Amino acid sequence: MDLVVTSAKRPEAGETVLGDSFKTVPGGKGANQAVAAARLGAEVYMIGCVGGDHYGKSIIDNFQTNGVRTDYVEPVTEMESGTAHIILAEGDNSIVVVKGANDAVTPAYVEKAKPVIAQADMVLIQQEIPEETVEYTAGLCHELGVPLLLNPAPARPISENIVEKAAYITPNEHEAALLFTGMSQGEALKKYPKKLFITEGKRGVRYSDGENEVLIPAYPVAAVDTTGAGDTFNAALAVALAEGKTVEDSLRFANRAASLSVMKFGAQGGMPLRKEVEDALK
Ligand code: ADP
Repeated sequence: MDLVVTSAKRPEAGETVLGDSFKTVPGGKGANQAVAAARLGAEVYMIGCVGGDHYGKSIIDNFQTNGVRTDYVEPVTEMESGTAHIILAEGDNSIVVVKGANDAVTPAYVEKAKPVIAQADMVLIQQEIPEETVEYTAGLCHELGVPLLLNPAPARPISENIVEKAAYITPNEHEAALLFTGMSQGEALKKYPKKLFITEGKRGVRYSDGENEVLIPAYPVAAVDTTGAGDTFNAALAVALAEGKTVEDSLRFANRAASLSVMKFGAQGGMPLRKEVEDALK
């Protein structure tokens, strides 16, 4: 859950200031990507944990309103829901994230969802859960022959094993710099053709087609709020690849979906429906 305060001034240490507004909006990378994929027409199961607090209930309600299956979303009574405490002030944001129940997403927890994972066309995973769980899920998907799309956000170094077992990896430029140390981004792209996609914000997304480095340009739009652009991009990419679209077509679809998402406020607020993306691509 995102707890968002707007204020003219950011408080100094020890200072109290009066804010202008306060909102709670559902957020979190996994949840955002699940909601975006469902709006794009996929059948989506979320695998995750919420707290036993009242946020947990509204997070689950929000999934159900958006058509995301919650069979594998368990409330953890002794923990708080994961929260992000966001101050929007002076034209920028400051954020404190408290992981809360996200830490209850252990390998054993994911194992309980093995039946649904085994039948999936694609598993989409992020890094707001423990690293050992990402490691376990990469191994499980590999064993089951289910493609895994890893969005390595927030940035942290990951094991070579995860990189090898993932079918697709989608860092932004900052995350890519942390993932591939000791080689240039060009070298990393060349090493992982049609697997590594580096997003470059309003420039678009870069990958290697096996012979050349290719930039698929973003769609120029009047951006209002870029929060969640990456989440919409990842969900749309997963949906398109799972449907068997080519890599290039899938990246265009993802760019188009993400461009629509930045035209409205809020991470989930701007996530487009399937028809809106298809109409925009015509
Ligand atoms: P993140 O949000 O994870 O930092 P990026 O900023 O690289 O990721 O954005 C992800 C994708 O969202 C881009 O590849 C692009 O398709 C789209 N996007 C981001 N910002 C804009 C923008 N200002 N205008 C149009 N598309 C954008």
